[in-house]
Amino acid sequence: MIQTPYYLIDRAKLSRNMAIIDRLRAGSGAKALLALKCFATWPVFDQMRNHMDGTTSSSLYELRLGREKFGKETHAYSVAWSDHEIAEAVGYADKIIFNSIGQLERFDNQSAQIERGLRLNPRFSTSGFDLADPARPFSRLGEWDAGKIEAVMDRISGFMIHYNCENADFDLFDRQLTRIEDEFGALLHRLKWVSLGGGIHFTGEGYPVDRLAARLKAFSQRFGVQVYLEPGEAAITGSASLEVTVLDILNNGKDLAIVDSSVEAHMLDLLIYRISARMDVSGDHPYMICGKSCLAGDVFGEFSFPAPLSVGDRLSIADAAGYTMVKKNWFNGVKMPGIVIRELDGSETVAREFGYADYASSLG
Ligand SMILES: *Cc1c(COP(=O)(O)O)cnc(C)c1O
Repeated sequence: MIQTPYYLIDRAKLSRNMAIIDRLRAGSGAKALLALKCFATWPVFDQMRNHMDGTTSSSLYELRLGREKFGKETHAYSVAWSDHEIAEAVGYADKIIFNSIGQLERFDNQSAQIERGLRLNPRFSTSGFDLADPARPFSRLGEWDAGKIEAVMDRISGFMIHYNCENADFDLFDRQLTRIEDEFGALLHRLKWVSLGGGIHFTGEGYPVDRLAARLKAFSQRFGVQVYLEPGEAAITGSASLEVTVLDILNNGKDLAIVDSSVEAHMLDLLIYRISARMDVSGDHPYMICGKSCLAGDVFGEFSFPAPLSVGDRLSIADAAGYTMVKKNWFNGVKMPGIVIRELDGSETVAREFGYADYASSLG
């Protein structure tokens, strides 16, 4: 048995998402680029590469990883490039997307040999979280003044517009895209490509994938543009778990089980967005499942089990693919979860283990 903690990526579950991406690409003509900031576990890129058109990035290192480990079409985006990065970035990228007119002008000469885009901020979004809302007041994410953008249209061939966040509501997507068409249509007609970013939850249960495909196709035809999508979470949703073991059980008014992992270190977004982990269990025995770091609020959530828990029991935290492996850290020196792949034949391959040497080398 493989020692916990480890993230377990299930290729069969991944292939369900990949089949939906194929259907969406075929029905819409849109290209799908994996957003590496959400998921960059390259040992399964061999599988994803057959169903996605390439990658998009948020930094030089993600960009390089996309070029070297995924291949295909490689989009370079960063909130801001530094002078010493730009030549290397242009060397990896098929397209470079600048966040501001200032960066586009600053790196005009260095980037002139590849296609360039600009991030457009439509000033609305579907994010309910201020922290993650690209349209929050004074947002630095993209340009929104059509008059200013007009002046640089001759240097760019596309826009990137990322404004959705786990949006499972097709009608809301449809309405907001219509708003973009109405407000920026004159500019869109002059472009060759438009990326609508990520955040569309089209692999969710019951999502009307074919209506989305038809809507994207209509958008593409109306403006004569190649549409790109940049799914992060939608590409890998439901395809991995975090496997842990119960180390201790105590009762301080509630039954508490401490496991060999940590929310802060291994599933940080649960803390940032103040949401509970998911576990696919039910029964009459409730426990609060807690992490082993010394952070008081290091709690995965409360779940009811079919039988009392014991030290040594293995538990499986669901939905652990997105924004987990890319964010894991060495807080408290807690052993970092390994990365294990469940192959299509059911066998399990250890892709990576982390140990003391990795911890020590991350600090000096
Ligand atoms: C975060 C991000 C994505 C991916 O978002 P998901 O919600 O994971 O689909 C895509 N494009 C850009 C520009 C992003 O910032």
